[in-house]
Amino acid sequence: MSFNIAIDGPAGAGKSTIAKNVAKALSYIYVDTGALYRAMALHFLRNHTDSAQENAVAAACADISITLSYDEGVQKVILNGEDVTGKLRTEEVGNTASIVSAYPAVREKLLQLQRDLAASENVVMDGRDIGSHVLPKADIKIYLTASSDVRAERRYEELRAKGITCDIAKLKADIEERDQRDMNRDIAPLKQAEDAIYLDSSNLTISEVTERILELVTIK
Ligand code: C5P
Repeated sequence: MSFNIAIDGPAGAGKSTIAKNVAKALSYIYVDTGALYRAMALHFLRNHTDSAQENAVAAACADISITLSYDEGVQKVILNGEDVTGKLRTEEVGNTASIVSAYPAVREKLLQLQRDLAASENVVMDGRDIGSHVLPKADIKIYLTASSDVRAERRYEELRAKGITCDIAKLKADIEERDQRDMNRDIAPLKQAEDAIYLDSSNLTISEVTERILELVTIK
């Protein structure tokens, strides 16, 4: 039986950094499920499929094949045979992913892939609906959040480190808009699973949060 850790929460709460650290400490596989939605979004952007048109997006899902591969523990996302891992972390792709992830056809396309991986491997999987929907029987569930001010600041610093300047107020507005969409969609919305542990990372360092999760694994 594989051991599954689910980490859900809004954009910018630190999920991916922390999930990666936890996975590394335990020699588990880190699964970034946001990258799957982003790969779908990239396909729609490239093919000029209007993300506001649910029917068009649903029809275009038939043309998409997504798989994950791991190279020394690092996730690669393969979209129709092409490694698109390096093309997924733009604001445009993220915002489109947030729109199309509300459509059942998009979510269904990715559900089995996530479940199959978790059934066969020890995983730390991060996303929005992992504890509540994808892996309802996960061994440990974390709901990781932080204030929108802190999340916007973190994103600002991340972009600045890459030499990209941007408006912090606009980043905060985008984050809040994305939260609203993710929390209020009809299918698999972002929410804390009943048995998930709530962690607010606003005033905690990455290593403090990582340590807390590792302690939970030890006592499990
Ligand atoms: O986490 P990340 O910012 O990469 O996710 C991009 C978008 O994909 C999110 O805003 C969310 O709408 C969607 N997503 C989702 N379910 C997941 C992971 C991501 O709906 N498990």
